[in-house]
Amino acid sequence: MLAALAVVLTAVAPRAMARQEVFRRSPRAALLGWQAVSLAAVVSAVSAAPLAVHALALGGAGWAAWAAVPALAFSGLVLGRLLWSGHLVGTRLRAARREHRVLVDALGEAVDDEVRVLAHPTPTAYCLPGLRRRVVLTEGTLRALPGEELDAVLAHERAHLRARHDLVLEFFTVLHQSAPSRLQAPEALREVRLLVEVLADRAARRRTGPVPLARALVALAGASHPETALAATADVSATRTRMALLAEDDAPGWLAPVVYAFAAGVLAAPLALLGLALGSMGA
Ligand SMILES: [Zn+2]
Repeated sequence: MLAALAVVLTAVAPRAMARQEVFRRSPRAALLGWQAVSLAAVVSAVSAAPLAVHALALGGAGWAAWAAVPALAFSGLVLGRLLWSGHLVGTRLRAARREHRVLVDALGEAVDDEVRVLAHPTPTAYCLPGLRRRVVLTEGTLRALPGEELDAVLAHERAHLRARHDLVLEFFTVLHQSAPSRLQAPEALREVRLLVEVLADRAARRRTGPVPLARALVALAGASHPETALAATADVSATRTRMALLAEDDAPGWLAPVVYAFAAGVLAAPLALLGLALGSMGA
């Protein structure tokens, strides 16, 4: 059952969740739900095989000792893939961002500790997270956006930096890349990226109201930015979705509690199965 749960949480649940667009209206709760599903999948995948072997051994199956080798190897493989993927993704992201920051610091004009302006006509805005974080704009952005719209963009980028959205995305990227390719759900990663943008949009909306932010999103739609940065805008269809969400009211009051309960239930499922299995073996 733990093995089946691992497959369901890895391959089925993310696709079903990505279709629930109502989650987007409560992005913070939704992100927690996504994290719960991912963690529960990892716990299930790592614990299933050793538990089965343990049960066989207690049942007196003589060959259980032999089954222990592949079972532990499987769990080791899952853990190893996670750690290796974490190492690769983390190293690559940090090296690319460091390199980019050095360039931006050399070429850009410093507005304050954080903000750098590049002499380029194309409007774009993005941030480089990390200890020495930067918000990068171009002269084209300053020309294209009047004061309030620029405020909205800066509030959006600073929300990413403050809340360390880069770490949230890194967590999901690592899990995504360590899952076997047949079980990977790219729509999950896309949805999580969108939720992070919606969170930053909400921070900007609180500061300037929806109209300046919406205008800025239109002005920056389709702007290019480095792959390892968090940008104010991604592709045009995501921008359209975010514009629609900007105009919507806050989520209905029941939504966040329902999503939190879902997250707790999903996390409890593998733990309950583990407890049941160990309890029945002890009896
Ligand atoms: Zn953003």
